[in-house]
Amino acid sequence: MSVPLRQQISVASYLFKQKIKGVKRYPLVLMLEPLFRCNLACAGCGKIDYPDDILNKRLSVEECLAAVDECGAPIVSIAGGEPLLHKELPQVVEGMIARKKYVYLCTNALLLKKRMDDYKPSPYFNFSIHLDGTRERHDASVCQEGVFDKAIEVIKMALERGFRVTVNCTLFQGETPEEVAEFLDFTKSLGVEAVTIAPGFSYEHAPAQDVFIKLREGRELFRKVFQIGKKRKWNLNHSSLYLDYLAGNQDYHCTPWGNPTRNVFGWQKPCYLLADEGNAASFKALLEETHWEKYGNTKNPKCANCMAHCGFEATAVEDAISNPWKAVWTGITGPRTEGPMAPEPVHEWEHNSTPAGHPHFQIQAVD
Ligand code: SF4
Ligand code: SF4
Repeated sequence: MSVPLRQQISVASYLFKQKIKGVKRYPLVLMLEPLFRCNLACAGCGKIDYPDDILNKRLSVEECLAAVDECGAPIVSIAGGEPLLHKELPQVVEGMIARKKYVYLCTNALLLKKRMDDYKPSPYFNFSIHLDGTRERHDASVCQEGVFDKAIEVIKMALERGFRVTVNCTLFQGETPEEVAEFLDFTKSLGVEAVTIAPGFSYEHAPAQDVFIKLREGRELFRKVFQIGKKRKWNLNHSSLYLDYLAGNQDYHCTPWGNPTRNVFGWQKPCYLLADEGNAASFKALLEETHWEKYGNTKNPKCANCMAHCGFEATAVEDAISNPWKAVWTGITGPRTEGPMAPEPVHEWEHNSTPAGHPHFQIQAVD
């Protein structure tokens, strides 16, 4: 099983329309954070370090749906915090499905057994379950024993009831390629639709700072994982070129407006990952007011090790539109796991000028 054809066609047709209209910056996935409160306190989380008055805030149903309408992205990822703590979330999801949006409800699954009856299976709706690896890894990552087993129990329950289910996995320091491969084999045996995977972003506000994978380590880890996975046919919820990028073969600049974030503060500049750069009052204002040129692996030390799908999947999609044969070929052969890697980003804050002739980026998404 992988992303259903209906969804692939809807997204392709949306992309086609943006190209025909000549839209330069368009959203692909709306990241909606209707609250920051969570029922876990993971070591690598950059979302829950707020005072109680902020953690107690909720976006209303109307605010959530207004964000969906304003932004227009075909896919909505509902994150947080723990979205299932939001009492009106079923109405939010219902409103999104009525608008024919593809909804990924990201949850740590602790409340899902209790709340599953509030939702109905739909081709537009997907439970995206947070699992950061095998039992030992995941329970260590979320700093609580038993969470992995609870998540597996509800994944099986949701699948039995006919829900679409994916897994979202963040990788942290110390992960071995064999462990990641074992985990991906396991998720395949569970029968989930696909797995979203990326190295954890080094949130400044995360309780632990030594858990994050550096860019070079991330590339090496993914190469080895994909080497093991050559014949295993894992369903990864990513474009072929994003996977190739993770394996160190693409020299991309991020496209943060591809995954705009609406949370209790407004529209977060510039992306889901950076929390201290200010907020815009509307999606239009986000596009117009953000100094996009200040961000990216080469531009900003906060971005130095970012490989997140919310930054680079939209870049990979743009690349696939410009170079369809490259995308198809990479899809057939899988990410390259040998040979030289793409040059590492040159940090402009460390160098006054870029070395002449350095093949900086294939995609220049920023003016
Ligand atoms: S990473 Fe997710 S599950 Fe963990 S504390 Fe943060 S919001 Fe909650
Ligand atoms: S590299 Fe891009 S997506 Fe990643 S944190 Fe920086 S601005 Fe955000």
